[in-house]
Amino acid sequence: VQSTLSITVVGASGDLAKKKIFPALFALYYEDCLPENFMVFGYARTKLTNEELRNMISGTLTCRIDKRANCEDKMEQFLKRCFYHSGQYNSEEHFAELDSKLKEKEAGKLSNRLFYLSIPPNIFVDVVRCASLKASAANGWTRVIVEKPFGRDSESSAELTRCLKQYLTEDQIFRIDHYLGKELVENLSVLRFSNLVFEPLWSRNYIRNVQLIFSEDFGTEGRGGYFDNYGIIRDIMQNHLLQILALFAMETPVSLEAEDIRNEKVKVLRSMRPLQLEDVIVGQYKGHNKGGKIYPGYTDDSTVPNNSLTPTFAAAALFINNARWDGVPFLMKAGKALHTRRYPKEIPDAYERLLLDAIAGERRLFIRSDELDAAWSLFTPLLRELEENKIFPELYPYGSRGPVGAHYLAAKYNVRWGDLSGEDSQE
Ligand code: NAP
Repeated sequence: VQSTLSITVVGASGDLAKKKIFPALFALYYEDCLPENFMVFGYARTKLTNEELRNMISGTLTCRIDKRANCEDKMEQFLKRCFYHSGQYNSEEHFAELDSKLKEKEAGKLSNRLFYLSIPPNIFVDVVRCASLKASAANGWTRVIVEKPFGRDSESSAELTRCLKQYLTEDQIFRIDHYLGKELVENLSVLRFSNLVFEPLWSRNYIRNVQLIFSEDFGTEGRGGYFDNYGIIRDIMQNHLLQILALFAMETPVSLEAEDIRNEKVKVLRSMRPLQLEDVIVGQYKGHNKGGKIYPGYTDDSTVPNNSLTPTFAAAALFINNARWDGVPFLMKAGKALHTRRYPKEIPDAYERLLLDAIAGERRLFIRSDELDAAWSLFTPLLRELEENKIFPELYPYGSRGPVGAHYLAAKYNVRWGDLSGEDSQE
């Protein structure tokens, strides 16, 4: 039976859709990675015609440099398969209209439907309700890709999951973490599990500490509104760095299949003790004048409240209570407006790969609900303590190495941050 695939980008009028999702879909099409009968639907409240949607996205499509030959043709063919439906996010009626349009194009073939929620989180549940009730595939699969944030603490995350699960089963939900690129996961797995040399060394007997470092050399630069609500701990540590830690530290999975890996990740997360305030340093960057150039502080950002205590930097020591890692500090550090930009880099084709995996039903790089719960359990008590006690972040100059407290935190565990060695380590 011939099948069709439709990808509905909900929030198609937004920035993420324009800059990342449509270009990624085109790149997949260009590389012949999409099924023969595919179509793309944009859905948002903004009133647009199909033509207007096509004009809007055509400017952002690009072909890989080495194969420009049939670029224009391919773009044209791709755009012909893009359509738009304007509707409210909480209107079952409007999603039923979308369903009719999809059905018309599916023309009775087996239909698979993927919904990409590129919208603010407060409307996720409305959209999932309407889409699942009125626009689910009649005879193929229906999947939903969700972008973070997945809640802001254990309770809100569990509530979001509970609501999503009223309408979707676990295997329909694809929670994206962009930094969890395939290469990273595969390299770690190959290094650990395909290399008999390494596995016996992968423990407290040979590893004294593990460091996970994320640093950006720029601040929020006028786009701090979203960030201010979350802070660096929620934005980077609780998800990206913790995911990498789990992959690094998990026990050997039964196989490299998604569920086996995800089972081991959950286990190792559950073997960790929640973060303790005394093992955490929070910081916020302040304005700074360097070589005649003025660098703004975090609260100088007009989208950030003047009295914001939101951390733009955090360092933490975490511990895993199991035989393999007993006593080994796992140090995490993440910050904005630091002196260097370090791993993880934005992976240029992260969206392509994630879309492709979601289409193929490959779940290894997507976060399962119980993993998410376990991750929040580790951070929620700390986040609550920081916020309820209005703990002041240690200020650090824009473009510096971050608060000196991070150094003392590492020293407490007899560790030096690995990223401070090198030619300028004397500063
Ligand atoms: P956006 O431009 O703010 O929102 C996307 C679309 O959602 C808008 O075009 C708008 O469409 C609709 N929308 C916006 N605010 C709304 C509101 N209060 N109520 C109802 N609809 C609203 O966001 P984005 O940058 O494209 O990102 C989409 C989502 O991805 C974000 O909400 C965020 O959770 C997540 N995300 C984004 C990034 C990024 O780099 N941009 C990174 C990580 C995660 P209409 O008005 O036409 O309906």
